[in-house]
Amino acid sequence: MSSFDVDLFVIGGGSGGVRAARIAAGYGARVTIAEEFRVGGTCVIRGCVPKKLMVLASRFGDDFADSAGFGWTVGERSFDWASLIAAKDAEITRLEKIYRANLEKAGVTIIDSRAVVEDAHTVRLLATGETVRAGRILVAVGAHPSLEPVIPGGELGITSNEVFDLATQPERVLVVGGGYIGVEFAGIFAGLGSRTSLLHRGEKLLRGFDEDIRDRLAEAFRARGVELLFSRTLERLDKRDGEIEGTFSDGKTARYDLILVATGRRPNTNGLGLEKAGVALDRSGAIVVDAFSRTAAPSIFAVGDVTDRANLTPVAIREGQAFAETEFGGKPTAVDHDLIATAVFSTPEIGTVGITEEEARARGGRVVVFQTSFRPMRATLSGREERVFMKLVVDGATDKVLGLHVLGPDAGEMIQLAGVALTMGATKADFDRTMAVHPTAAEELVTMREPYAVYEPAAA
Ligand code: NDP
Repeated sequence: MSSFDVDLFVIGGGSGGVRAARIAAGYGARVTIAEEFRVGGTCVIRGCVPKKLMVLASRFGDDFADSAGFGWTVGERSFDWASLIAAKDAEITRLEKIYRANLEKAGVTIIDSRAVVEDAHTVRLLATGETVRAGRILVAVGAHPSLEPVIPGGELGITSNEVFDLATQPERVLVVGGGYIGVEFAGIFAGLGSRTSLLHRGEKLLRGFDEDIRDRLAEAFRARGVELLFSRTLERLDKRDGEIEGTFSDGKTARYDLILVATGRRPNTNGLGLEKAGVALDRSGAIVVDAFSRTAAPSIFAVGDVTDRANLTPVAIREGQAFAETEFGGKPTAVDHDLIATAVFSTPEIGTVGITEEEARARGGRVVVFQTSFRPMRATLSGREERVFMKLVVDGATDKVLGLHVLGPDAGEMIQLAGVALTMGATKADFDRTMAVHPTAAEELVTMREPYAVYEPAAA
């Protein structure tokens, strides 16, 4: 009989932790999971899921407007923020129950408490002060929104933790940050009728994405009425007559009802007791792990955003699964972090997998770029000024498709399947011999024949 109370103690009931707990329990391990907030974690409770529901809500306005070109007359339209929030809350509560039920079905014990590490095999529950001895500890505590930059009046802003629970719809919104969350919420607020501005310290949105996608997203945002305030920062916030006045680095001021700060996320390692258990952290506070999610302490492991590898739910789930397979299933499994397909649910939407044109060209070999921009069929009758953009980045030596980038409706759906092709190592010739599905937008991905640009290797 083991001297431990449990075989595995998981700290954090989000995507990575829940998956690891269930799989480990399935292999017969005695597993306890502690969660201080709500089971489901950021993705289910205040991230991907409620965000996508709000994105869907924000797109109906376009549908109503576009339907006129197809012969419809839509009566009076109005949007009720409180109804959306209530419906969203009910759905999140339903999902949380399912998460709990699935853990219980798997035989995992759930503890509603913050848990901290006492030593390499001991966890303390802050709700009761109790300690639990565990054979292995998995840290899957995620990350929290950054409040940077720290400015006078910064507390007048909110983060993505609060944005899902606003009682009323703000009339004028300033979103700070040009990353995933910034562009997604700019789209949500603009689509729901708030006057929306997005402030970003750089010259372009979504650093790291393909340059054409970045440029075209900015154009599309402007066309949809989102004000883009580039190359400046927010210097201070002041409360004035019930409104929030923002002062920018160029000296200008403007008033808003809501300031949403989306300037990145930080790992939740503060006060967790990790250092004294021998777990190494990097400079940003993320837990340093190897390909098997092992930390510097042999009995402690970490998965998900707290390790700051690729901060995406499916990645955390995969890491949690691999950890459980390795440690409890006798199947050593490392997670491959290459070729992660991802979607940004801005409006218009972005789907991307593989490397950008800029990254491919920086490698120095021959690069062939295929790209197209066209009006989607729906826009022909709706009259909407909207274009879909697609790009294939191909290795000129091997014909392998290195990157695929889409901006337009359903880009997220397209990129999931394109991800399969790229994961299999598809060449441009494979795309060419794939029969098109007509009439779709996605067929353009297999019908681009003429290179848009060819970059020869720089002479040695
Ligand atoms: P991101 O890292 O994506 O973007 C942060 C933005 O804030 C960048 O534009 C960055 O600018 C800017 N910024 C950072 N620090 C400062 C500062 N001190 N002052 C001013 N601006 C600053 O973070 P998000 O918060 O948008 O999202 C966090 C993560 O969550 C994402 O990276 C992603 O991994 C995940 N996520 C994924 C989603 C999806 O899959 N659809 C949706 C939402 C989140 P710069 O570019 O110059 O650094």
